[in-house]
Amino acid sequence: MTSIVIVGGGVMGAATACFLARDHGIAATVLEREPTYRQASSALSASSIRQQFSTTVNIALSRESLLFYRRIGDELTVNGERPDIGLVEGGYLYLASDAGAALMRELHALQRAEGADVALLDPHALHERFPWLCTDGIALGSLGLSGEGWFDGWSVLQAFRRKAIACGARFVQAEAAALETHAVRCTDGRRFEADAIVLAAGAWSAALLKPLGIDLPVRARKRDVFVVESPATLPGFPLLIDTSGVWCRPEGRGFICGAPPRGDDVDDAPLEHIDHALFDEHIWPALAARVPAFEALRVTSAWAGYYEMNLFDHNGLVGPLPGWPTLHLACGFSGHGMQQAPAVGRALAAALATGAWHSSVASLSPQRMWHNAPLLERNVI
Ligand SMILES: Cc1cc2nc3c(=O)[nH]c(=O)nc-3n(C[C@H](O)[C@H](O)[C@H](O)COP(=O)(O)OP(=O)(O)OC[C@H]3O[C@@H](n4cnc5c(N)ncnc54)[C@H](O)[C@@H]3O)c2cc1C
Repeated sequence: MTSIVIVGGGVMGAATACFLARDHGIAATVLEREPTYRQASSALSASSIRQQFSTTVNIALSRESLLFYRRIGDELTVNGERPDIGLVEGGYLYLASDAGAALMRELHALQRAEGADVALLDPHALHERFPWLCTDGIALGSLGLSGEGWFDGWSVLQAFRRKAIACGARFVQAEAAALETHAVRCTDGRRFEADAIVLAAGAWSAALLKPLGIDLPVRARKRDVFVVESPATLPGFPLLIDTSGVWCRPEGRGFICGAPPRGDDVDDAPLEHIDHALFDEHIWPALAARVPAFEALRVTSAWAGYYEMNLFDHNGLVGPLPGWPTLHLACGFSGHGMQQAPAVGRALAAALATGAWHSSVASLSPQRMWHNAPLLERNVI
């Protein structure tokens, strides 16, 4: 297989192009309609990585990606320049009330069996480790001791892109309009021929399959992120996930935080409309109750991006589309694509180059939708 066109140059498209070129000598053409990545999820992500999932495939993909991110400087060096993604292994801390404790224990057993370095802490142990945390209403916490944290997503995207180009991949500014069996037609009339096509258009992937009569259940779901400052010193602050669903982690000298939307999670909500009431009425009260020092929080800015939500089962779709053997999906990562890009990009590139599917992504095959066999991820933030 020699000629490959990738639609979408976000982290998934760029990682796939990078591994194709670097490891298999295949110079793919990547079509990206917006090279500034103004709306791309990869540029608007919270870029965190965890082992605490409910499915073995997600644990394994994150573990593989984490190893890659630790040595990304060596992996993606271009002309002696080593990318630095500022990886901080600060851990995730999930909190559970009495109602959630049994599930937390169940998932802990699964995560440990898969090799994740996670520990369960009772309220006393939580208080010892995080004296600034209020444990009222908390029965249990699950803490990542290593292999979890956060990084600079923009640097990851640029590192994959640069390495891909240095190894021969071609990034072209073009908007795909229609997918054919052996070509992609663009809005400006250009037509890019291909032996294989990869659809990595993130939250916009479903629109390109509609003309083929396929209703891909991947939707653009807006998520707001608030940047806050706090005068408090809170040593060892992890990525905290409260029982309320509110999350918060250190970023620079402050913090970023967010929560799933209240009410209807509608498709394609405009990114310019930040829900400030979500912060005032839900996020701040929850954070101040959990971390009393956060009473004095101040919002300094906010942004929003789209989760490319796979409504079928909240997991990525990776592999050939049933009935369309030349068309491969790499979309629907539902809020965990930044941490899966190295592992998914590498597996997809190998499969495209050799025709053999590595078991690491076999369970993400789109086939599961045709067989109505969801791979449900219960830990979606
Ligand atoms: C607020 C927020 C927080 C997040 N937090 C995390 C996190 O902590 N950890 C984590 O792992 N993930 C997180 N995610 C999810 C993660 O960012 C995404 O899963 C990942 O970036 C998806 O990458 P992608 O390449 O598939 O999509 P994108 O980055 O969106 O790239 C798709 C690209 O396709 C292009 N495109 C679309 N249509 C066309 C077309 N017709 N022709 C040409 N180009 C096209 C777009 O311009 C875009 O650049 C978060 C996302 C958001 C929004």
